[in-house]
Amino acid sequence: MNQTAEVVIVGGGIVGSSVAYHLAEAGVRDVLVLEREPHQGMGSTGKSMGGVRAQFSSELNIRLSMYSIAFFRCFDEVVGHPSGYRPQGYLFLATRPAHMDYLARTFELQTSLGLRTVRRIATAEIAEMVPQVRTDDVLGGSFCSTDGFVDPHSVMTGFMARARDRGVRLMRETRVTGLGLDARGIAAVQTTAGPIATRAAVNCAGAWSAAVAACAGVDLPVKPLRRMLVPTEPTGLIARSAPMVIDMTNGFHFRPEGLGLLLAWNDPDETPGFKTSFDSAFVEKILDRAVERVPGMADVEVNPARGWAGLYEMTPDHYPVLGPVNEVPGFFIATGFSGHGVMHSPATGKILADLIVRGETDVVDARLLNVSRFREGKLLEEMAVL
Ligand SMILES: Cc1cc2nc3c(=O)[nH]c(=O)nc-3n(C[C@H](O)[C@H](O)[C@H](O)COP(=O)(O)OP(=O)(O)OC[C@H]3O[C@@H](n4cnc5c(N)ncnc54)[C@H](O)[C@@H]3O)c2cc1C
Repeated sequence: MNQTAEVVIVGGGIVGSSVAYHLAEAGVRDVLVLEREPHQGMGSTGKSMGGVRAQFSSELNIRLSMYSIAFFRCFDEVVGHPSGYRPQGYLFLATRPAHMDYLARTFELQTSLGLRTVRRIATAEIAEMVPQVRTDDVLGGSFCSTDGFVDPHSVMTGFMARARDRGVRLMRETRVTGLGLDARGIAAVQTTAGPIATRAAVNCAGAWSAAVAACAGVDLPVKPLRRMLVPTEPTGLIARSAPMVIDMTNGFHFRPEGLGLLLAWNDPDETPGFKTSFDSAFVEKILDRAVERVPGMADVEVNPARGWAGLYEMTPDHYPVLGPVNEVPGFFIATGFSGHGVMHSPATGKILADLIVRGETDVVDARLLNVSRFREGKLLEEMAVL
């Protein structure tokens, strides 16, 4: 075996790139990132909507987001590459008393954790902020001005460029096919380019990470779930400075994108599987919901050929799996973001680098996110999943 690395990262998406960057920042530079595709970003990262928000309902997710959004705010300066962070906000529209109760509870929690930029918002102000939205059934809402969007591809590229400047190596078109174990744990990573001797491997293979974990005999309950996005043709309907608007009635949400809008809705009838083709029947389903909330959308053009599909990497409790596999020394996991892997990529990279280098982190209580929680029945709860 002539190739070696101190740490091998499996998967060169936004998460693998952030882990590589943070390891290099922590002084670990003999790092090798393995990506099976000819280019980075061909997994979920390149399909993402790029939304970032701290408006969650649990301490863990709020902390992951607050850390990450603070990072995105100074990303360009610190990483030396644009993140495309646009703090245009997330505006949640409540149409039922239960939504109002939920927003009141989450507001209390968010502000108690130090989030200063979130506020409850009255229907009249919602109508002023996005006048095209139908508000006759809206009871109120919640707005956080530091929520917004990033450019996922650019964030990934920036993390990897800086990591490589510091000595990290990236091998593309190299698929991980196995993991070699010995009495001390991880001993090698088998690849289509030959074996690599290492004592540490990080599984950042996104929707495909369960197969990588299985190579070490680890049961990782991460399943792929198709999500589809529909861009509109250029339209002047909604201001380009508008926030992400979320209709809590059915989860339909949209934001400005280029000269048009990007429409999203998670179809509850979608079933797990590696399905990445766009289903043109989805266009009518999403437009029904779009017109229901924004009547002017009836006149906006949509070319179904421009819709796309990608995979969420779902866990049973919709929280990521972060940290070491206790039974396999040297094996680490960073996946299962269930729709939030772009927004939580900075915190994830920091947490993994901390755990690999020091065995502990102060970003969050990472023990809660360990893969052992599934076996031990310690699943977490979060209600705000988009
Ligand atoms: C339609 C859609 C919208 C989304 N919107 C948002 C959003 O608004 N905000 C947000 O935060 N998140 C969003 N997400 C989720 C987000 O995109 C993902 O959570 C995130 O990209 C995960 O990053 P990753 O690096 O873990 O995975 P990926 O980007 O999928 O990277 C994993 C990489 O591993 C590689 N790989 C897999 N197996 C192997 C192997 N055996 N050997 C070598 N390489 C391998 C793959 O080729 C891939 O490049 C969205 C996702 C989709 C599909």
